[in-house]
Formats: sequence, C-alpha cells, structure tokens
Amino acid sequence: MATVYEVDELEKALNELELDDPAPEKERWYAISTDPWPCPACGEIVEWVTACHHVVIAETPDPLLEHASVAKKVGRNPRIIKYDGGMPTITLYQWRALGRPVHGVRRDLTPG
Ligand SMILES: [Zn+2]
Repeated sequence: MATVYEVDELEKALNELELDDPAPEKERWYAISTDPWPCPACGEIVEWVTACHHVVIAETPDPLLEHASVAKKVGRNPRIIKYDGGMPTITLYQWRALGRPVHGVRRDLTPG
C-alpha cells in the first residue's frame, strides 16, 4: 500500500521527519539507475527508481534488489550503482516511515 504525495508535500514531510537515520558519506549511497522512464503521474522523464521524484537510496545494494526486480518486470533495465547526485533523495528508512510515497496523479484543478 502506497501513500500518495505531491512532490512539494513529500519534501515537507521529509523535512519534518525525525528519524535516527544513519548518515554515511554521500558517495557511499546506492541507487537504482534505469533506462529513461516517464513518471506515471506527470510524465517527467527520470532515470532512477524514485518515490515521488526523490531517488530511493540505501547504504548497501541488498535492500534495493527487491525494487530493482520490480523495475525489471516492467522493462526499465535497472542497474544498482553508486548514486552520484543530481536529484533530491529519499533513504529507504524515510521511504518506509512515510508509507512508501508515490507521486499522485495530477488532478484537474478548476479555478474558483
Ligand atoms: Zn511525477
């Protein structure tokens, strides 16, 4: 079961989240790189497995295997590699604590 967030809502939730997060050196994080893939909610092209446009990162490759296998099933050609920055991130701990956030499908907001 996933929780639906808008990108800025997730940013806010991450800031408010107080977790005893291990914080290894940035260059030690792993993430799942994929072929360019449109976000199912808004169509933005991403080249990582993300949660609501935040790259899901972990200290070791192992916990990412499950997510890589999901990405493989849908043909995204996943590769677990060292994360080299460029996008906002969410650790697996934060991801679980926030109820596995995904990007919500944009609603048509009518003025008034
Ligand atoms: Zn999106």
